[in-house]
Amino acid sequence: MTASFGPSYVRAIAPYIAGKPISEVAREFGLDEASIVKLASNENPLGMPESAQRAMAQAIADLGRYPDSNGFELKAALAARYGVPAEWITLGNGSNDILELAAHAFVEKGQAVVFSEYSFAVYALATQGVGARAIVVPAVHYGHDLDAMLAAIDDDTRLVFVANPNNPTGTFVDGPTLEAFLGKVPRHVVVVLDEAYTEYLSADKRYNSIDWVRRYPNLLVSRTFSKAFGLAGLRIGFAIAQRGLTDLLNRLRQPFNVNTLAQAAAIAALNDSAFLEQSAALNAQGYKLLTEAFDKLGLEYVPSEGNFVLVRVGGDDEAGARVNLALLKQAVIVRPVGNYGLPQWLRITIGLPEENGAFLAALEKTLAEPAAA
Ligand SMILES: *Cc1c(COP(=O)(O)O)cnc(C)c1O
Repeated sequence: MTASFGPSYVRAIAPYIAGKPISEVAREFGLDEASIVKLASNENPLGMPESAQRAMAQAIADLGRYPDSNGFELKAALAARYGVPAEWITLGNGSNDILELAAHAFVEKGQAVVFSEYSFAVYALATQGVGARAIVVPAVHYGHDLDAMLAAIDDDTRLVFVANPNNPTGTFVDGPTLEAFLGKVPRHVVVVLDEAYTEYLSADKRYNSIDWVRRYPNLLVSRTFSKAFGLAGLRIGFAIAQRGLTDLLNRLRQPFNVNTLAQAAAIAALNDSAFLEQSAALNAQGYKLLTEAFDKLGLEYVPSEGNFVLVRVGGDDEAGARVNLALLKQAVIVRPVGNYGLPQWLRITIGLPEENGAFLAALEKTLAEPAAA
């Protein structure tokens, strides 16, 4: 008999499916890496800001030593930027690390976690990883139904995940609605507000969640340097919450969870407002191009406030996989979302103008083929 290791709730985890790396697609499809367009992981198409590259080049001299375990300088920069005490900040090895830490810190085996249908896959993974029960609340128009999520909180619930904007759908809940929700969540239930795409919001959509952290001791706001800040490969994110929550995350986190280069690059990127503005402007322009093309093609899409768009590429449950494969053969990597329960859809990261153009050309060609329709 084969021994089975580990708890059953760990064995039951379906591993996270990441966007295909360029090198893998090149090998699989016999393509030249340079010809491949990757619009699959919501990375910033401008790449890393030059300011961050310079900061990293300087920090290389320190790599013989351990990183600053407390991230003193970065926390000071974040504290100044967001107007909170440095003691309210937790640094993470990507904000993924923060989400995992939150599940470990606030939820026991057998307790429950509430999140929305079609929300970020890591919420389910983090929940299962601690042997907790997931309460998945049906989405409305592909977005969070906050009233239903509130109603779903039961006696066992200790944590609620809310992504705003949400990934993979791009949906957005406005500030007043979110604030009203926070006011109604029981105080012993932690709300993790995952704002990975917040820097892409247009001025009229912005709200001040850091103010809410001051009012709600059960709120933890999670942010990342992976998207608009352009540092996905470095793995760095952070959380802002009052001491009661932050203390627990700090006890659990690995002492050196954020490396020296990431800390140096993040400080530079945080202060590079020109890069952020350029990234948001490029994104708005690309969103317009893609959605106008989808309109012309008669394709349904979900209005998005992130740096990606979810588009329905066919009316049968093979459509996403079929069109995805056809795009891969044409050297375009996007993200199938069948694992999210959206088999008719693809998620397209907004790229550079020429990348968006290459994707649209490949998509149009694919949809024009009788077999694809
Ligand atoms: C991309 C993303 C993250 C974070 O990624 P990290 O690279 O781990 O910081 C977190 N939440 C959502 C909803 C995301 O889309």
